[in-house]
Amino acid sequence: MNTQTYSATGVRWDLSDLFRSHDDPAIAETLDGCRGRAERFAERYRGTIRAPGGPTPEHLLAAIRELEALQADLERAGAFAGLLYASDTTRPEHRDLRERIEQRLTEIGNLVLFFELEWLDVPDEHAQPLIDHPVLAGYRHFLRQARRMRPHTLSEPEERLLNERDNTGPRAFGRLFTELTSNLGFPFRRNGKDERLTLSEILALSHEPDRSVRRAAHETLFEVLEKHALVLTFVYDTLVQDHLTIDRLRRFPHPMASRHVANEIDAEAVERMLAVTERNYGEAQRYFRVKARLLGLPRLALYDLYAPVGAEMSRSTFEAARGTVLSAFDAFSPVFSAAARRFFEGRWIDAEVRPGKQNGAFCASPSPALHPYVLCNHTGNLRDVMTLAHELGHGVHGWLARAQTLFNYDTPLTTAETASVFGEFLVFDRLLATESDPRVQLALLCGKIEDAFATVFRQAVLTRFEQAVFARRREGRFTSESVCGLWLDANRPYYGDAVEFTDGYRWGWSYIPHFIHSRFYCYSYVFGELLVLSLYRQYKEEGASFIPKYIALLEAGGSNSPEALLAPLGVDFHDPAFWQKGFDEIRALVDRAEALAEVLASQAGNGPSRGAL
Ligand SMILES: [Zn+2]
Repeated sequence: MNTQTYSATGVRWDLSDLFRSHDDPAIAETLDGCRGRAERFAERYRGTIRAPGGPTPEHLLAAIRELEALQADLERAGAFAGLLYASDTTRPEHRDLRERIEQRLTEIGNLVLFFELEWLDVPDEHAQPLIDHPVLAGYRHFLRQARRMRPHTLSEPEERLLNERDNTGPRAFGRLFTELTSNLGFPFRRNGKDERLTLSEILALSHEPDRSVRRAAHETLFEVLEKHALVLTFVYDTLVQDHLTIDRLRRFPHPMASRHVANEIDAEAVERMLAVTERNYGEAQRYFRVKARLLGLPRLALYDLYAPVGAEMSRSTFEAARGTVLSAFDAFSPVFSAAARRFFEGRWIDAEVRPGKQNGAFCASPSPALHPYVLCNHTGNLRDVMTLAHELGHGVHGWLARAQTLFNYDTPLTTAETASVFGEFLVFDRLLATESDPRVQLALLCGKIEDAFATVFRQAVLTRFEQAVFARRREGRFTSESVCGLWLDANRPYYGDAVEFTDGYRWGWSYIPHFIHSRFYCYSYVFGELLVLSLYRQYKEEGASFIPKYIALLEAGGSNSPEALLAPLGVDFHDPAFWQKGFDEIRALVDRAEALAEVLASQAGNGPSRGAL
């Protein structure tokens, strides 16, 4: 790839405030120092946290502070290794450094692991007064959250045994799935040439303008997956059974419970959110009908869901994208734009496209003592502008939360996307307002709607499927047919009669990595997206008075539970009306797309069924 083609050339981050280079002697010095501190920490504190009657609050505070400082120094080394590797994944010295640091981090982590186990060992009657003690007020949430795993933690030898056996048990099945799906070849004939595509390449063809290409890709995808039915079903069946076994051993009351603990959310709030989502499936079906009209089809088929409509936005230089994002952020709050500006001025962002650099985009916020770093690959299309807004949203969140200590810094999965998706909305609205071509506006709107559907509706379908799978597995081993049947049953309420199913789609469950590697993860996407949609709608309703409350939320980092942090904004997860607000925002987007489609159709003079928009 010719790096000169892209306007972000030269936009590289400066990692020198972490370490100078991969062979900077300060790296080894830092790690050796950390190891010594971890050993001394163990000498000083082992056995003193689970001491009879519990530790004194001052003693516990001293231990937490020492551990936190140690962790912060480890984060610096870990972040440097990770970021350097992402800068150029092909250089062996980068890979070596990353591997070496990962090993050292595990080794040092093991030395201090006892602290958390001892804290879990403290009986409730001694732990609660510590959690409530003013001396420990700054770590109340940290102490409380750690103890939520208390009823589900086994003895130290049992935990070690499970950990070691996992490598040849569930993790091995996970690796088998990854190796199988990442090595699949999908034979595909394009432009008179026979090609062998990877899974991600064949999935990407769902965005092709040519319907016959989309349909052929869809059919090929499932034909190939079906050939591996035996292994894919066996792997999934085994992992579901393993999950049920571990739940029994750890005394989790239902298959989603372990995920809820990590997400700091309760089952009722999640169930209510999913129920409201299902009540709004009709909104999705309305959009599918609008899209069918735009494509000039009587009805959408599954392979038309991501077909492009409207006209693509003209390409944007990196300078222009930066200007768009900063001015959209600035219109919301100068606090936002000032934080985002630092990423460009301080060289905290790496945006150029170059060989060897990691694909995609991320924002790393290693610790409040450091600033966040953003990586993206700016080629100049609309997606890249939205990605920049997304990652800078994360970056603003990490920067604003820097007054928190490390153990109060990170948010759980459910609220991790609070600023990133919000940032995308700010930029989306700005682009829509400044774009004069209605066909480009339509493409922008449809892109946003389809993104929201994929993150909200589809993830709810995925969660319902998993619930059905776990309920059925109690009755015995799966056949491929039974899993395929459950998959279709979970999908039908969403698509209704607005979308035509295909025969192959029954294999739609078989390549989704979340079912294998992180079960019941998908509802977090629903949660995160709806939360932001609701907050964004609230911002539009409330105006200026919303802004300081929102900034305070970001500044609070992970210092309390999502529920407590969001309470000042009037958010109540248990109130269906709160979740509905997110869907009202989605409905407003669909309304706009529909109105725009009508305007374009009448301009074209061909009635509403014209298909060439
Ligand atoms: Zn994100």
